[in-house]
Amino acid sequence: MAIREVTQRYGQTLALNRVSLDIAAGEFVVLLGPSGCGKTTLLNIIGGFAEPTSGQVLIGGRDMAGIGSKDRPTTTVFQDYALFPHMTLRDNVAFGLRMRGQARTARSEKAEEMLALVGLAGRGGHRPHELSGGQRQRVALARALAVEPDVLLLDEPLGALDLKLRRSMQDELKDIQRRVGTTFVHVTHDQEEAMAIADRIVVMNGGRIEDEGSPRDIYLKPKTLFSASFMGEVNRIRVADGRAAFGPVSVGDGTLCLRPEAISEAGKLRIGPCRIEDAAFFGSHVRAHVIPIAAPDMRLVVNLPQAAAPALGAVLDLGAEAYVLLKE
Ligand code: ADP
Ligand code: MG
Repeated sequence: MAIREVTQRYGQTLALNRVSLDIAAGEFVVLLGPSGCGKTTLLNIIGGFAEPTSGQVLIGGRDMAGIGSKDRPTTTVFQDYALFPHMTLRDNVAFGLRMRGQARTARSEKAEEMLALVGLAGRGGHRPHELSGGQRQRVALARALAVEPDVLLLDEPLGALDLKLRRSMQDELKDIQRRVGTTFVHVTHDQEEAMAIADRIVVMNGGRIEDEGSPRDIYLKPKTLFSASFMGEVNRIRVADGRAAFGPVSVGDGTLCLRPEAISEAGKLRIGPCRIEDAAFFGSHVRAHVIPIAAPDMRLVVNLPQAAAPALGAVLDLGAEAYVLLKE
Protein backbone atom coordinates (compact mmCIF):
# COMPACT_ATOMS: atom_id res chain seq x y z
CA MET A 1 0.00 0.00 0.00
CA ALA A 2 1.25 3.50 -0.75
CA ILE A 3 0.24 6.93 0.46
CA ARG A 4 1.59 9.61 -1.84
CA GLU A 5 1.80 13.28 -0.85
CA VAL A 6 -1.57 13.24 0.88
CA THR A 7 -2.77 16.64 2.08
CA GLN A 8 -6.05 17.28 3.87
CA ARG A 9 -7.41 20.75 4.60
CA TYR A 10 -10.44 21.58 6.71
CA GLY A 11 -10.88 25.34 6.21
CA GLN A 12 -7.80 26.88 7.82
CA THR A 13 -6.72 23.59 9.43
CA LEU A 14 -4.05 21.61 7.63
CA ALA A 15 -4.92 18.18 9.07
CA LEU A 16 -2.38 16.38 6.85
CA ASN A 17 0.55 18.04 5.17
CA ARG A 18 2.04 16.05 2.26
CA VAL A 19 2.15 12.69 3.99
CA SER A 20 3.88 9.87 2.10
CA LEU A 21 4.20 6.34 3.40
CA ASP A 22 4.75 2.89 1.95
CA ILE A 23 3.32 -0.07 3.84
CA ALA A 24 4.31 -3.64 2.96
CA ALA A 25 1.75 -6.44 2.73
CA GLY A 26 1.46 -8.18 6.10
CA GLU A 27 3.11 -5.35 8.00
CA PHE A 28 1.83 -4.16 11.39
CA VAL A 29 2.16 -0.38 11.24
CA VAL A 30 1.26 1.91 14.13
CA LEU A 31 0.49 5.59 13.60
CA LEU A 32 1.58 7.21 16.87
CA GLY A 33 1.06 10.81 17.85
CA PRO A 34 -0.74 13.23 20.15
CA SER A 35 -4.41 14.10 19.83
CA GLY A 36 -5.11 16.26 16.78
CA CYS A 37 -1.98 15.28 14.82
CA GLY A 38 -3.99 13.80 11.94
CA LYS A 39 -4.04 10.04 12.69
CA THR A 40 -7.79 9.56 12.26
CA THR A 41 -7.81 11.77 9.18
CA LEU A 42 -5.15 9.60 7.55
CA LEU A 43 -6.96 6.38 8.50
CA ASN A 44 -10.24 7.75 7.13
CA ILE A 45 -8.56 8.63 3.86
CA ILE A 46 -7.09 5.13 3.56
CA GLY A 47 -10.48 3.59 4.40
CA GLY A 48 -12.37 5.76 1.90
CA PHE A 49 -14.42 7.67 4.50
CA ALA A 50 -12.88 10.92 3.26
CA GLU A 51 -11.31 12.09 0.01
CA PRO A 52 -8.02 13.95 0.45
CA THR A 53 -7.64 17.54 -0.72
CA SER A 54 -4.71 16.29 -2.78
CA GLY A 55 -2.52 13.20 -3.04
CA GLN A 56 -3.05 9.54 -3.73
CA VAL A 57 -3.78 6.28 -1.93
CA LEU A 58 -2.81 3.05 -3.70
CA ILE A 59 -3.76 -0.37 -2.36
CA GLY A 60 -2.37 -3.39 -4.16
CA GLY A 61 -1.18 -0.97 -6.85
CA ARG A 62 -4.71 0.32 -7.46
CA ASP A 63 -5.51 4.02 -7.17
CA MET A 64 -8.34 4.39 -4.65
CA ALA A 65 -9.52 7.81 -5.87
CA GLY A 66 -13.30 7.88 -6.15
CA ILE A 67 -13.70 4.42 -4.58
CA GLY A 68 -15.96 4.49 -1.52
CA SER A 69 -15.28 2.68 1.74
CA LYS A 70 -17.58 -0.25 0.89
CA ASP A 71 -15.70 -1.01 -2.31
CA ARG A 72 -12.21 -0.83 -0.86
CA PRO A 73 -10.20 -3.88 0.28
CA THR A 74 -10.16 -2.37 3.79
CA THR A 75 -12.22 -2.66 6.95
CA THR A 76 -12.08 -0.54 10.07
CA VAL A 77 -12.30 -1.24 13.79
CA PHE A 78 -13.28 1.82 15.82
CA GLN A 79 -12.98 2.52 19.53
CA ASP A 80 -16.74 2.12 20.04
CA TYR A 81 -17.45 -1.35 18.76
CA ALA A 82 -20.82 -0.47 17.21
CA LEU A 83 -22.17 -4.03 17.34
CA PHE A 84 -25.85 -4.58 16.52
CA PRO A 85 -27.40 -5.22 19.95
CA HIS A 86 -30.35 -7.26 18.68
CA MET A 87 -28.19 -9.65 16.63
CA THR A 88 -26.26 -12.68 17.85
CA LEU A 89 -22.48 -12.52 17.80
CA ARG A 90 -22.51 -14.89 14.83
CA ASP A 91 -24.80 -12.58 12.85
CA ASN A 92 -22.76 -9.55 13.87
CA VAL A 93 -19.57 -11.15 12.61
CA ALA A 94 -21.26 -12.43 9.45
CA PHE A 95 -22.83 -9.05 8.68
CA GLY A 96 -20.27 -7.94 6.09
CA LEU A 97 -20.47 -11.33 4.35
CA ARG A 98 -24.25 -11.04 4.18
CA MET A 99 -23.85 -7.60 2.58
CA ARG A 100 -21.59 -9.27 0.03
CA GLY A 101 -24.26 -11.83 -0.77
CA GLN A 102 -22.64 -14.88 0.80
CA ALA A 103 -25.01 -17.80 1.59
CA ARG A 104 -26.13 -18.32 5.18
CA THR A 105 -24.35 -21.59 5.94
CA ALA A 106 -21.03 -20.43 4.54
CA ARG A 107 -21.12 -17.12 6.36
CA SER A 108 -22.11 -18.73 9.67
CA GLU A 109 -19.19 -21.11 9.36
CA LYS A 110 -16.83 -18.22 8.65
CA ALA A 111 -18.27 -16.29 11.59
CA GLU A 112 -17.66 -19.21 13.98
CA GLU A 113 -14.13 -19.56 12.66
CA MET A 114 -13.50 -15.85 13.24
CA LEU A 115 -15.00 -15.98 16.74
CA ALA A 116 -12.63 -18.86 17.53
CA LEU A 117 -9.72 -16.80 16.20
CA VAL A 118 -10.45 -14.04 18.72
CA GLY A 119 -10.95 -16.46 21.62
CA LEU A 120 -14.75 -16.62 21.58
CA ALA A 121 -15.26 -20.14 20.24
CA GLY A 122 -18.76 -21.49 20.78
CA ARG A 123 -20.21 -18.09 21.74
CA GLY A 124 -21.86 -17.39 18.37
CA GLY A 125 -25.40 -17.63 19.78
CA HIS A 126 -24.80 -15.02 22.49
CA ARG A 127 -25.72 -11.36 22.20
CA PRO A 128 -23.45 -8.33 22.71
CA HIS A 129 -24.94 -7.30 26.10
CA GLU A 130 -23.73 -10.62 27.58
CA LEU A 131 -20.10 -9.65 26.90
CA SER A 132 -17.49 -7.49 28.62
CA GLY A 133 -15.96 -4.50 26.82
CA GLY A 134 -12.88 -6.45 25.85
CA GLN A 135 -14.98 -9.30 24.45
CA ARG A 136 -17.11 -6.89 22.43
CA GLN A 137 -14.01 -5.39 20.91
CA ARG A 138 -12.90 -8.91 19.94
CA VAL A 139 -16.23 -9.42 18.18
CA ALA A 140 -15.70 -6.14 16.32
CA LEU A 141 -12.26 -7.41 15.29
CA ALA A 142 -13.71 -10.75 14.15
CA ARG A 143 -16.35 -8.90 12.15
CA ALA A 144 -13.74 -6.73 10.44
CA LEU A 145 -11.53 -9.73 9.61
CA ALA A 146 -14.39 -11.95 8.39
CA VAL A 147 -14.51 -10.27 5.00
CA GLU A 148 -10.78 -10.94 4.57
CA PRO A 149 -9.65 -7.38 3.89
CA ASP A 150 -6.20 -6.70 2.47
CA VAL A 151 -5.76 -3.96 5.05
CA LEU A 152 -7.33 -3.70 8.50
CA LEU A 153 -7.55 -0.18 9.92
CA LEU A 154 -7.82 0.22 13.69
CA ASP A 155 -8.55 3.62 15.25
CA GLU A 156 -7.62 3.54 18.96
CA PRO A 157 -9.46 0.19 19.24
CA LEU A 158 -8.32 -0.42 22.82
CA GLY A 159 -8.83 3.14 24.04
CA ALA A 160 -11.99 2.37 26.00
CA LEU A 161 -10.48 -0.54 27.94
CA ASP A 162 -8.78 -0.31 31.32
CA LEU A 163 -5.00 -0.50 31.39
CA LYS A 164 -4.56 -4.14 32.36
CA LEU A 165 -7.05 -5.40 29.79
CA ARG A 166 -5.52 -3.10 27.19
CA ARG A 167 -2.09 -4.64 27.74
CA SER A 168 -3.37 -8.19 27.37
CA MET A 169 -5.43 -7.26 24.29
CA GLN A 170 -2.28 -5.79 22.73
CA ASP A 171 -0.55 -9.14 23.00
CA GLU A 172 -3.60 -10.85 21.50
CA LEU A 173 -3.89 -8.36 18.68
CA LYS A 174 -0.25 -8.94 17.76
CA ASP A 175 -0.77 -12.68 17.86
CA ILE A 176 -3.92 -12.53 15.71
CA GLN A 177 -2.19 -10.31 13.17
CA ARG A 178 0.65 -12.83 12.88
CA ARG A 179 -1.80 -15.67 12.32
CA VAL A 180 -3.97 -13.98 9.69
CA GLY A 181 -1.09 -12.14 7.97
CA THR A 182 -3.32 -9.16 7.10
CA THR A 183 -1.75 -5.69 6.90
CA PHE A 184 -2.73 -3.78 10.06
CA VAL A 185 -2.64 0.01 10.31
CA HIS A 186 -3.31 0.84 13.95
CA VAL A 187 -3.72 4.30 15.45
CA THR A 188 -2.81 5.12 19.04
CA HIS A 189 -1.43 7.94 21.18
CA ASP A 190 0.03 5.41 23.65
CA GLN A 191 3.75 4.83 23.03
CA GLU A 192 3.82 1.64 25.12
CA GLU A 193 1.00 0.22 23.02
CA ALA A 194 2.90 1.14 19.87
CA MET A 195 6.01 -0.66 21.13
CA ALA A 196 4.00 -3.71 22.16
CA ILE A 197 2.49 -4.35 18.75
CA ALA A 198 4.27 -2.55 15.92
CA ASP A 199 6.64 -3.86 13.31
CA ARG A 200 7.05 -0.22 12.40
CA ILE A 201 6.01 2.94 14.20
CA VAL A 202 5.17 6.10 12.28
CA VAL A 203 5.40 9.13 14.56
CA MET A 204 3.07 11.96 13.55
CA ASN A 205 2.94 15.57 14.68
CA GLY A 206 0.96 18.49 13.31
CA GLY A 207 -0.18 16.67 10.17
CA ARG A 208 3.29 15.45 9.25
CA ILE A 209 5.36 12.31 9.67
CA GLU A 210 8.20 13.13 12.08
CA ASP A 211 9.89 9.77 12.22
CA GLU A 212 9.41 6.13 11.28
CA GLY A 213 11.16 2.90 12.07
CA SER A 214 11.14 -0.13 14.34
CA PRO A 215 10.33 0.52 18.01
CA ARG A 216 14.03 0.03 18.76
CA ASP A 217 15.13 2.56 16.13
CA ILE A 218 12.63 5.21 17.19
CA TYR A 219 13.56 4.82 20.84
CA LEU A 220 17.33 4.61 20.44
CA LYS A 221 17.85 6.69 17.30
CA PRO A 222 15.01 9.22 17.09
CA LYS A 223 15.33 11.59 14.16
CA THR A 224 13.71 14.59 15.84
CA LEU A 225 13.31 15.99 19.34
CA PHE A 226 9.57 15.50 19.11
CA SER A 227 10.03 11.82 18.30
CA ALA A 228 12.59 11.40 21.11
CA SER A 229 10.24 12.95 23.67
CA PHE A 230 7.08 11.21 22.50
CA MET A 231 8.68 7.75 22.74
CA GLY A 232 9.35 7.94 26.46
CA GLU A 233 11.32 10.18 28.75
CA VAL A 234 14.43 11.95 27.56
CA ASN A 235 16.84 14.49 29.06
CA ARG A 236 17.65 17.26 26.57
CA ILE A 237 20.91 19.09 27.03
CA ARG A 238 22.08 22.01 24.89
CA VAL A 239 25.65 21.71 23.67
CA ALA A 240 27.30 24.75 22.07
CA ASP A 241 30.98 25.23 21.29
CA GLY A 242 31.73 21.84 22.80
CA ARG A 243 30.21 22.73 26.18
CA ALA A 244 27.09 21.82 28.11
CA ALA A 245 26.08 23.63 31.30
CA PHE A 246 27.85 20.97 33.40
CA GLY A 247 31.12 21.04 31.44
CA PRO A 248 32.83 20.03 28.18
CA VAL A 249 31.09 17.57 25.86
CA SER A 250 33.09 16.35 22.89
CA VAL A 251 30.40 14.76 20.70
CA GLY A 252 29.48 17.85 18.66
CA ASP A 253 27.03 20.71 19.07
CA GLY A 254 23.23 20.41 19.14
CA THR A 255 20.78 18.88 21.58
CA LEU A 256 22.14 15.92 23.46
CA CYS A 257 19.34 13.45 24.22
CA LEU A 258 19.91 11.07 27.12
CA ARG A 259 17.41 8.40 28.14
CA PRO A 260 17.06 8.07 31.94
CA GLU A 261 18.34 4.48 31.89
CA ALA A 262 21.42 5.49 29.88
CA ILE A 263 22.76 7.53 32.80
CA SER A 264 24.81 5.71 35.41
CA GLU A 265 27.98 5.88 37.45
CA ALA A 266 29.77 3.87 34.76
CA GLY A 267 28.66 6.05 31.80
CA LYS A 268 31.58 7.18 29.66
CA LEU A 269 30.19 10.50 28.51
CA ARG A 270 30.85 12.36 31.75
CA ILE A 271 28.21 14.56 33.38
CA GLY A 272 30.08 14.74 36.69
CA PRO A 273 28.95 14.86 40.31
CA CYS A 274 25.17 15.14 40.69
CA ARG A 275 23.08 15.61 43.83
CA ILE A 276 20.03 13.38 44.34
CA GLU A 277 16.91 15.52 44.68
CA ASP A 278 14.36 12.77 45.00
CA ALA A 279 14.06 9.08 44.26
CA ALA A 280 11.14 6.67 43.95
CA PHE A 281 11.06 2.89 43.68
CA PHE A 282 9.42 1.87 40.38
CA GLY A 283 9.80 -1.92 40.62
CA SER A 284 12.16 -2.52 37.72
CA HIS A 285 14.27 0.53 38.58
CA VAL A 286 14.63 3.52 40.90
CA ARG A 287 13.60 6.76 39.23
CA ALA A 288 15.54 9.77 40.54
CA HIS A 289 15.87 13.45 39.79
CA VAL A 290 19.42 14.73 40.07
CA ILE A 291 21.06 18.16 39.73
CA PRO A 292 24.61 18.39 38.38
CA ILE A 293 26.69 20.31 40.93
CA ALA A 294 28.29 22.31 38.11
CA ALA A 295 24.89 23.19 36.58
CA PRO A 296 22.41 24.00 39.38
CA ASP A 297 19.69 24.97 36.90
CA MET A 298 19.73 21.57 35.19
CA ARG A 299 17.52 18.75 36.43
CA LEU A 300 17.99 15.27 34.99
CA VAL A 301 15.82 12.17 35.26
CA VAL A 302 17.89 9.08 35.94
CA ASN A 303 16.82 5.44 36.22
CA LEU A 304 19.07 3.78 38.76
CA PRO A 305 19.29 0.00 39.27
CA GLN A 306 16.53 -1.69 41.28
CA ALA A 307 18.93 -2.28 44.20
CA ALA A 308 19.99 1.37 44.44
CA ALA A 309 18.82 3.11 47.59
CA PRO A 310 20.17 6.61 47.12
CA ALA A 311 19.90 8.99 50.05
CA LEU A 312 18.42 12.39 49.32
CA GLY A 313 21.23 14.90 48.99
CA ALA A 314 23.81 12.20 48.25
CA VAL A 315 26.20 12.87 45.39
CA LEU A 316 26.78 10.40 42.54
CA ASP A 317 29.38 10.84 39.82
CA LEU A 318 27.32 10.20 36.70
CA GLY A 319 27.87 9.78 33.00
CA ALA A 320 25.92 8.59 29.96
CA GLU A 321 26.31 5.22 28.29
CA ALA A 322 24.39 6.02 25.11
CA TYR A 323 23.24 9.27 23.58
CA VAL A 324 21.72 10.84 20.50
CA LEU A 325 22.83 14.24 19.28
CA LEU A 326 20.21 16.15 17.30
CA LYS A 327 21.16 19.18 15.28
CA GLU A 328 18.06 21.31 15.67
P1 ADP B 1 -6.11 12.61 15.70
O1 ADP B 1 -6.90 11.45 15.23
O2 ADP B 1 -4.64 12.44 15.55
O3 ADP B 1 -6.47 13.04 17.09
P2 ADP B 1 -7.59 14.04 13.65
O4 ADP B 1 -7.16 13.40 12.40
O5 ADP B 1 -8.92 13.66 14.19
O6 ADP B 1 -6.46 13.87 14.74
O7 ADP B 1 -7.60 15.62 13.43
C1 ADP B 1 -6.55 16.34 12.85
C2 ADP B 1 -6.92 17.82 12.77
O8 ADP B 1 -7.96 18.01 11.81
C3 ADP B 1 -7.44 18.40 14.06
O9 ADP B 1 -7.00 19.73 14.17
C4 ADP B 1 -8.94 18.33 13.90
O10 ADP B 1 -9.56 19.31 14.67
C5 ADP B 1 -9.10 18.58 12.42
N1 ADP B 1 -10.27 17.89 11.84
C6 ADP B 1 -10.45 16.55 11.75
N2 ADP B 1 -11.61 16.25 11.13
C7 ADP B 1 -12.19 17.44 10.83
C8 ADP B 1 -13.42 17.81 10.18
N3 ADP B 1 -14.26 16.89 9.73
N4 ADP B 1 -13.67 19.13 10.05
C9 ADP B 1 -12.82 20.06 10.52
N5 ADP B 1 -11.64 19.78 11.13
C10 ADP B 1 -11.33 18.50 11.29
MG1 MG C 1 -8.25 10.25 16.30
